[in-house]
Amino acid sequence: RLATSIRNLKKEYVLKSETVRALRGVSFDVPEGDYVAIMGPSGSGKSTLLNMLGCLDQPTSGSLLMGDDDIITLTDDQLADIRSKRIGFVFQSYNLIQQLSVVENIQVPLYYQGRLGAAELERAKAMAERVGLAERLDHRPSQLSGGQQQRVAIARSLINDPFFILADEPTGNLDSVTTEEILGIFDELNNEGRTIILVTHEDDVAERAKRIIRLKDGMLDRDELISEEKRAA
Ligand code: ADP
Ligand code: ADP
Repeated sequence: RLATSIRNLKKEYVLKSETVRALRGVSFDVPEGDYVAIMGPSGSGKSTLLNMLGCLDQPTSGSLLMGDDDIITLTDDQLADIRSKRIGFVFQSYNLIQQLSVVENIQVPLYYQGRLGAAELERAKAMAERVGLAERLDHRPSQLSGGQQQRVAIARSLINDPFFILADEPTGNLDSVTTEEILGIFDELNNEGRTIILVTHEDDVAERAKRIIRLKDGMLDRDELISEEKRAA
């Protein structure tokens, strides 16, 4: 796992009558083991930045280095490859497949790579155990609480030993007790050295990160380190 480096990143959407400048030159680094919260008002470019970090879309200009790869130079197939092997996605609405069991959902990223054997099944079980779902392997998502479903999504995000975990409003659908449980898992993963990048509207959630990056009008407004005292509070 290596650092991610963003330099003068710009993204323009060309519509019929106008060009929307969604990102207007954003630069920052995410070292290995960092825990970053991205905040900002609606329309400030958070989703666009997340789409770039998730290799779902390419920038108009600038660079986004993940290790040695600059995503602006990659083909769609290469981006899909990075997405499935190097990025762990966690979404607000969990995005689990309802027809699949817990342990099957956790293996979905491996399915895209054609890798489904005994070793992969064991790894999926280990990930389920990692997030406290060892007793729920054969349950379907509909048989789980929201917090349990988000645990499945976190286990799924870990299955490929990703570069970083990209979480889009991961606690947006959860009550405060369950939010605390999920943030506790992120704390543990980060303490183990995993890099986490999350987007949130909630100050309480953002202040659990090591750092808050605020976007405004497609630009980086503030990049603030959270003190240990504040994180512990
Ligand atoms: P946020 O996630 O902070 O709400 P977005 O990244 O979604 O911000 O949007 C930033 C700007 O880019 C907004 O003006 C939005 O309308 C525009 N935008 C985002 N995605 C698209 C798109 N696919 N096509 C055109 N405009 C877009
Ligand atoms: P969020 O709720 O995370 O801020 P948005 O509602 O801004 O997200 O955007 C949701 C999705 O719609 C994003 O993936 C974004 O790319 C797309 N989008 C946002 N604005 C536009 C737009 N003006 N035209 C087309 N797609 C857009």
